[in-house]
Amino acid sequence: MITTTTPITIIGAGIGGLTLALELHAAGIPCRIYEAAPELRPLGVGINILPHATAVLAHLGALERLEAIAVETRESSFYNRFGQHIYTEPAGRYAGYPTPQLSIHRGHLQLTLAEIVRERLGADAIVGDHQCLGLEQDGSGVTARFRSLATGQPRDSVTGSAVIGCDGVHSAIRKQFHPDEGPPRYSGVLMWRGTTVGQPFLSGATMVRAGWLRDGKLVIYPIRDNPDGTQLINWVAEIERPYSGDRDWGKPGDPADFAPAFADWAFDWLDVPALLRGADTVLEYPMVDQDPLESWTVGRATLLGDAAHPMVPRGSNGAGQAILDAHALRRALQSEKDIPTALLAYEADRRPKTSAVVLTNRATPPDAILKEVWERTGDKPFGHIDDVITAAELADIAARYRQVAGFSLPDAAR
Ligand SMILES: Cc1cc2nc3c(=O)[nH]c(=O)nc-3n(C[C@H](O)[C@H](O)[C@H](O)COP(=O)(O)OP(=O)(O)OC[C@H]3O[C@@H](n4cnc5c(N)ncnc54)[C@H](O)[C@@H]3O)c2cc1C
Repeated sequence: MITTTTPITIIGAGIGGLTLALELHAAGIPCRIYEAAPELRPLGVGINILPHATAVLAHLGALERLEAIAVETRESSFYNRFGQHIYTEPAGRYAGYPTPQLSIHRGHLQLTLAEIVRERLGADAIVGDHQCLGLEQDGSGVTARFRSLATGQPRDSVTGSAVIGCDGVHSAIRKQFHPDEGPPRYSGVLMWRGTTVGQPFLSGATMVRAGWLRDGKLVIYPIRDNPDGTQLINWVAEIERPYSGDRDWGKPGDPADFAPAFADWAFDWLDVPALLRGADTVLEYPMVDQDPLESWTVGRATLLGDAAHPMVPRGSNGAGQAILDAHALRRALQSEKDIPTALLAYEADRRPKTSAVVLTNRATPPDAILKEVWERTGDKPFGHIDDVITAAELADIAARYRQVAGFSLPDAAR
């Protein structure tokens, strides 16, 4: 176990940075978070947290508070663009995991974790308006440089026993460590994400994936139960399109760019055009990732979460892998004698695993089921799904993804 009275500097109060602060605090290791945003606001739309990551949150005593503001996902279902059912499998506790799968608003998840961090570590545990510009280190410490995002003025530097770059897809620390890395790799798919208040559909807690990318694919799931019986429903429309812009989580989207592709998707289980028309938020984001890195760690500094392994969001794993990283880093710091060795042990554990998830999300994510059926049917309605693909084949595609992402049942139950 490392012993240090000099706090570890965490860069970024996103899902990974906040979870790391809770992990380090639980291990008795001092830390402080420096966040670029002057103030945390509930940004983003819905995300899913799979059972391997909710197990970490349960261990940290944070799960109950999150369950209260989320929908516990009951099942994951696949449909073609004619609304025909392909496959359903149970999710989370309904599949036998000890902890749930949660569908939750990303902003509410972040704010709740931040609240818990401040309660446990103190009101000043998260320092806002500190955009990290880079770091310098010697044998005994590592100094992060900052400026104010609000004014652009330099801030005092901070020397810590380590720096953990949890600064997301635009990570300054990653850029410093890998200055020659090329631009993000665009998958050819543009996403529009939104939320709509509506009546519950299917089980009231079903995550639906429907259609295929060339003509339009949708991911739809509820993320909050409202007292009046309605739900806040999250949806992601995905269509193959050229794109040359940058990654901006807050970029507004225009329904005219995607709604026509779904104009005839009025199914007896959900009126999709009405859902899209009723949106109160629409954001646009390119489906991009970056090739896995060959190293994350330099001396007393390393990367975590999206900063380390940005991935295309096709397997509900972005937040989950950041949470797993945080847990692994705490374990390494508890079991090694000095910080540089612990950071290397953490990287040795997590880099191969997350690289596999990045590459699998490109090639065979869970929605590979939709592609397989789309190809076998020539994108036509089918008579019976058994004539297209067997239940065993469908279950096999889903099981392979669970194994790579580290949440097949034996792993989760360990
Ligand atoms: C504003 C926003 C909205 C998002 N919306 C969605 C969404 O709707 N759906 C989805 O699937 N994913 C969304 N994501 C991404 C998702 O949160 C991550 O993929 C996942 O949770 C992994 O978490 P992370 O902590 O690695 O990164 P993030 O959650 O992205 O957190 C990174 C944090 O670092 C801060 N930061 C960045 N640069 C610096 C710097 N130089 N110095 C200090 N702080 C810095 C950011 O402000 C942010 O708080 C969003 C991310 C952000 C930042």
